[in-house]
Amino acid sequence: MSKTGTKCVQGGYTPNNGEPRQIPIYQSTTFKYDTSEDMGRLFDLEANGYFYSRLQNPTCDIVASRICELEGGSAAMLTASGQSANFFAVFNICNQGDHVVASSEIYGGTYNLFNVTMRKMGIDFTFVSPDCTDAELEAAFRPNTRAVFGETVANPSLSVLDIERFVKAAHDHGVPFIIDNTFPTPVNCNPIKWGADIVTHATTKYMDGHGSTIGGAIVDAGRFDWFAHAGKYPGLTTPDDSYHGIVYAEKFGLGGAFITKCVAQLMRDLGACQSSQNAYIIGLGLESLHLRMAQHCKNALAVAEFLESDDRVAWVNSPSLPSNKHYSLAQKYMPNGSCGVVSFGLAGGRAAAEQFMKNLKLAMIATHVADAHSCVLHPANATHRQLSDEELIKAGVPADLIRLSVGIEDIDDILADVEQSLDCIG
Ligand SMILES: *Cc1c(COP(=O)(O)O)cnc(C)c1O
Repeated sequence: MSKTGTKCVQGGYTPNNGEPRQIPIYQSTTFKYDTSEDMGRLFDLEANGYFYSRLQNPTCDIVASRICELEGGSAAMLTASGQSANFFAVFNICNQGDHVVASSEIYGGTYNLFNVTMRKMGIDFTFVSPDCTDAELEAAFRPNTRAVFGETVANPSLSVLDIERFVKAAHDHGVPFIIDNTFPTPVNCNPIKWGADIVTHATTKYMDGHGSTIGGAIVDAGRFDWFAHAGKYPGLTTPDDSYHGIVYAEKFGLGGAFITKCVAQLMRDLGACQSSQNAYIIGLGLESLHLRMAQHCKNALAVAEFLESDDRVAWVNSPSLPSNKHYSLAQKYMPNGSCGVVSFGLAGGRAAAEQFMKNLKLAMIATHVADAHSCVLHPANATHRQLSDEELIKAGVPADLIRLSVGIEDIDDILADVEQSLDCIG
């Protein structure tokens, strides 16, 4: 199966003769075996199979393999949320005393996870601007650096990461590059093609696409040579005492080690698993992802162009606009469009932003982004409340920023709503 749209509809699941056409929902915590020996082999990771849905569930695995095919990875897993996907992706290769280089322009929840919660766990982070110089990027590395982390298109700053540059810096220092590809989705960008090692998703956003389920995914490209840097990644290259001395990179190879360890240790112990019901909904969402992304991008570009031409708008940020500082990066990595999110500020600043939000009729105020319904958020009053003014600017989210997630309604109605709301501002 080579084309994206076909993978969206059929990837990960090929029913046999007489089997269900749609992905079956395995609504079962556990699975039955004839003998304890059969089960023992599963617990020892000596055989493939299911025993408890906290670790693996067939419905979740089908959806994970659809996402894996879309990203061009070697293995994938679902998680309960985008937050747990990013946490697991980093924590799977970082221990107390380790360090990560991360882009400063990332989702607010991820920034908190790294900057507050994971610091408490003894893992340190250095944040660099996606636009930093090569020297600044180089200076961020330490002997104990274990990964580099970024977002393809940052939520909500919409900065486009120069993936190849960050991949090269990571690999020059013998560490993998982890990228959150939530906003473009694999329909618009495949970071693995550009050298990324681990790709994460909040499936909550476009993949579900209808605002109905929280979820996450982790995809491994299967290329990072853990043994070549064995001293840095003892978790993958030395025996795991909690599994009778298995060495993950040896037993499951480069293609399987990262995800197997992540399921066997982190999912086992931390339990942030996806439910089969929600996985089914994500699977349904994926079936139209390629169609929806094209429409989101088309509508968002029309909104961005409309805003750019209106005097009451101070600035517009969309990587799809030729005036954008990241336009050429967006064209390189996402020639078919980036995502449906546009941000902008009004001439009247923060106060006008608050008024504009109140006047909207079709676009709803919601924390959410990236689903079929147009929705709008003022991050300084919501997702980014906990950040100081200085941190807001550093995160690329000034206090006047309005984030408009353009849905797939008819573009005439969306534009009319934006225009009447601008007209209402005093
Ligand atoms: C929403 C989001 C997350 C977190 O996902 P949840 O499912 O809400 O936990 C992570 N990264 C990005 C880019 C997001 O937009």
